[in-house]
Amino acid sequence: MTNEHSVFQTLKAAGYKLTLQRRATVEAVCAAENPMTPQAFHAVISQNHPEIGVVTVYRTLDILKRLGLLCQFQLDGTAQRFKAGSLEHHHHLVCRCCGEVVDFGRCPLELETTLEKETGFRITDHRLEFAGVCRACQGKENQGPQSFSGNTGEPE
Ligand SMILES: [Zn+2]
Ligand SMILES: [Zn+2]
Ligand SMILES: [Zn+2]
Repeated sequence: MTNEHSVFQTLKAAGYKLTLQRRATVEAVCAAENPMTPQAFHAVISQNHPEIGVVTVYRTLDILKRLGLLCQFQLDGTAQRFKAGSLEHHHHLVCRCCGEVVDFGRCPLELETTLEKETGFRITDHRLEFAGVCRACQGKENQGPQSFSGNTGEPE
């Protein structure tokens, strides 16, 4: 898990000042469980800091992105969403129903090597994302369309 202090440290090491705006954005990003759009982050941040504009949030997200501190998601032409992520190379499983994201570190690197051999490309990066329905949402699907009677005891 990424905590805000390690993000602050990475920012400082890269020469960025820890302004209030940046701090507030980092805190919002680290607190979010599921990926959110920059606008959604701005909405959260402006609850405590109404003076921080959406452009500032965009800029800070941009810095975090460049430093490799964010995971990016874009499913089916939806707006780009972000979440704090580990610096280590990893991939995602994304639930189409609730937006839950699971990180996994296993990576089909042999395919990269094979592709390089076959095509002559020197591959420098790749993205791999699986979309589907998480276990919790599958359970809901089995209950049929929104049963109002059987919803007690559901954690959530
Ligand atoms: Zn991730
Ligand atoms: Zn789900
Ligand atoms: Zn990979």
